Amino acid sequence: EEQEREYRSYLEKEKRIRAVTLCFSDLEGRFHMLDYDKKFLLDSADNLTFDGSSIRGFTAQHESDLRIKPDWSSFFWLPTDLFGPGKVIMFANILTREGDQYASDFRGLLQNFTRDLKAQEGLSALVAGEVEGFVLAGRNAEQNFDEKDGFQLLSTSGYFHSLPRDPLRQFIDEASVVQRAMGFKNEKDHPEVAPSQFEMNFSYGEALRVADLIQLYKLLCRQVASNLGMTACFLPKPVMGINGSGMHINMSVAKNGKNLFYDKAGKEQLSTFAHDFISRTLNHAQEICLVLNASVNAYRRLDPHFEAPNQIKVSAIDRGSMVRIPVGNEKTARMEVRSVGPDANPYLLLYVLFKTGLHGELSSVSATEHEPASLLPGTIQEAIALFESGDFVKKILGKENIEKYLACKKQVASRSPSDLGTLVKTSEVTYH
Ligand code: GLN
Repeated sequence: EEQEREYRSYLEKEKRIRAVTLCFSDLEGRFHMLDYDKKFLLDSADNLTFDGSSIRGFTAQHESDLRIKPDWSSFFWLPTDLFGPGKVIMFANILTREGDQYASDFRGLLQNFTRDLKAQEGLSALVAGEVEGFVLAGRNAEQNFDEKDGFQLLSTSGYFHSLPRDPLRQFIDEASVVQRAMGFKNEKDHPEVAPSQFEMNFSYGEALRVADLIQLYKLLCRQVASNLGMTACFLPKPVMGINGSGMHINMSVAKNGKNLFYDKAGKEQLSTFAHDFISRTLNHAQEICLVLNASVNAYRRLDPHFEAPNQIKVSAIDRGSMVRIPVGNEKTARMEVRSVGPDANPYLLLYVLFKTGLHGELSSVSATEHEPASLLPGTIQEAIALFESGDFVKKILGKENIEKYLACKKQVASRSPSDLGTLVKTSEVTYH
């Protein structure tokens, strides 16, 4: 409420701002933005409605009138150089006509879950996301995709040897300036292993905030690239034969500022709490895989030859394991989930990952005993079947959400043969 008062008076005073963008994400994580006139928004912030039936997944009849309510704790400037003058953006909650939290607004789901976790158990769900992507030649490269030619890469540079004014580096430099201006706490940015691939890391934080930042990261990357006549692409595997793009999720849980994942005397310096969290993640890895790898294309990426693990296993060194334990200390001790694609819905993803780690069932065998390790599903069709028969996902998401999410994913899967073949197909070139 204090934040609401603060930002309201700021909006009233700030003459340069004429419109306020409210944004939300659909079931699959696509980003939607509505621009409200500032005065109208200030007068009617608690009584805004929109037609949900045009949003994929929000389609049932009784949902055609939904409410949208700004979350004043998620206020961001959109830098003028990039987006034009006088723009601000806020994330919004989606409510039913009666004013209750709308169950398929996964941001709201994550928000309520992390709020309760804090209030009831004093726990903070902490996350750092490492989002990789490609820059491609030309604007709208996804829409102009040609199955025979594939995507045109822009740059040949790799991990540590790109020229300072290479087009890829130019993109990274401009995007990181925007990140800083928007309040990301930048850490490092660099060309990734594949040609024309980038990663721009920012600080860890509370799960909800990081999920919001992931959505903004993709938005600003797309806008920066577009202004430079390029395309920023977050498909997990846009080009066969080279590394794909992952969204590695680093997770830990803290209580009163103390990292519960750390134990100096523990195995890999992780606590029993952390090892149990990892064990539950591996135990449910099959049925939650669809949430981590939500597209046809994501299953092309899960290939250990390209640092994208498909083995249900934990390891301190082997990047072929879906969970890695990075070297850490008291502050940074964490687990890294590597088998996540950048086109996953970040809200649903973090909700499911924390729910699983905290409330899932412990595996009866320790992870290292699974030799050889079992594998993640190899196609979206398999992942759908595992999700559909999973009792745990049903318990944490509820029947209605499961049905809606499955309907979206079955539609995606129906456009693709279960044998992926060697060429990326137009039907899997989606935009998230
Ligand atoms: N690009 C790889 C992936 O798909 C990761 C590369 C790396 O860890 N250096 O996950």
